Amino acid sequence: MSLSTSTNLTGPVDQSAYRKKAHVLVIEDSRTFSSLLCHRFEKEHGYNVTHCATTRAFQEASRCGNHFDVAVVDLTLPDSPDGQVLDEVVALGIPAIVFTADFNRDMREKLVERGVADYVIKNNERAVDMVITAVDRILANRHVRVLVVDDLASARQMLTELLRLQQFQVFEASTGSEAMDMLEAHPGIELVITDYNMPDMDGYELTRRIRRAHGSDRLRIIGISSSADRLLSASFLKAGANDFVYRPFVVEELQCRIGHNVETLSQLRQLRLAAFSDYLTGLRNRRHFFDEGPAKVASCLERGQSCSMAMLDIDHFKKLNDTYGHEIGDRVLKAVATKLQTLIEDTDYLLARLGGEEFGLLLTGLDSVAASEFCEMIRTSIADLRVALDDNDISVTASIGIAEVGGMENFSNYLNAADQFLYFAKRYGRNRVYSDSMLLESTVTN
Ligand code: GH3
Ligand code: MG
Ligand code: MG
Repeated sequence: MSLSTSTNLTGPVDQSAYRKKAHVLVIEDSRTFSSLLCHRFEKEHGYNVTHCATTRAFQEASRCGNHFDVAVVDLTLPDSPDGQVLDEVVALGIPAIVFTADFNRDMREKLVERGVADYVIKNNERAVDMVITAVDRILANRHVRVLVVDDLASARQMLTELLRLQQFQVFEASTGSEAMDMLEAHPGIELVITDYNMPDMDGYELTRRIRRAHGSDRLRIIGISSSADRLLSASFLKAGANDFVYRPFVVEELQCRIGHNVETLSQLRQLRLAAFSDYLTGLRNRRHFFDEGPAKVASCLERGQSCSMAMLDIDHFKKLNDTYGHEIGDRVLKAVATKLQTLIEDTDYLLARLGGEEFGLLLTGLDSVAASEFCEMIRTSIADLRVALDDNDISVTASIGIAEVGGMENFSNYLNAADQFLYFAKRYGRNRVYSDSMLLESTVTN
């Protein structure tokens, strides 16, 4: 069972990355709605927005080679009284969210048939919020991997199409054992939608097996079946499924249930991230360092690789606070943290703010000498750093202590050792790197 305390924080959804690039098309002739939507998409979400008030404007925009990630489509435009523009949007493969004032059951059937990703009715004060949420969800779904398990190809295809319309990345399996292999091969899968009746293993058994290896905080399971047995839902849920839907399902209901599960995963991911991040600098915090560090050290030792622990402490930081104030001190801390993060960006090293103006660095693969060279580079980079104030720039220096990991020990012992060398670095004048290899050198020289 993967424990919920595991601190692997890398999730498939990188909010900032996809939000910046997303291009949203707003086809809407009402000035009130279009300006509200465009403003909020641009200003609050950072999306690129193209607004078209007519079908003709949309045709021109798409002819110009624009790529749209999602479209909000009003059904009644002056040159598209019956929603003809929607067919054109769908034909271009753009996920469409219909935003309409007229709505009835007939229209709902037609919208579902026409392959819209979602629809929002303009009949309440939250309508604009709902459109924005729908757009966010469609864009976020592009990063969510879903596995559909069903032995019946037609049933699988129906679900797959529905999920692709919602922009999910869909994987398919026709048996329980294929599903298990698929989960192994694609650890990024976050949602499994499984049928009950399957020849090799039923959905209930599959759910139990999945739960042995994957917790509900990382992987959601929705059971689905056309069985008339009303107890099936209870069995699925008891086996560890998060939801259950009987066939034939109402498209919107299934969409909502999927949406809620995906939303829960995203909230859990954010909670994990918050629990293991330092609020001021955004770096990983002490807890993360102690959670992830031991395994990293162990894997180095197992492979016979070197590994060093470094502890960095900003020099005379108290004085800086006293001179410029705590706020400026915070800015300096953030600047140092950002610099450190950039310097280890392409490495496998572990970096965290341990507290105050102290940072920990686990340098995997580096012995004491190599670690000293790397930290020397860090030291000069920090000394070169300038934090701009209104009237002048300020700079800081840092001292670094390094201890090579010699064998399996309590993780905090490695840090204590690095702290000892940090003490020497401070004592011998600050703005310097001090390691166990230097101590040996000086012993030999003396
Ligand atoms: P040394 O060169 O020996 O390391 O001296 P120092 O002044 O840097 O070390 P000391 O441990 O005496 O002081 C650390 C200071 O860091 C004291 C504390 O107020 C400040 N500090 C700790 N956390 C924060 C923070 O989050 N923001 C700011 N602005 N200051 C902090
Ligand atoms: Mg200090
Ligand atoms: Mg200190």
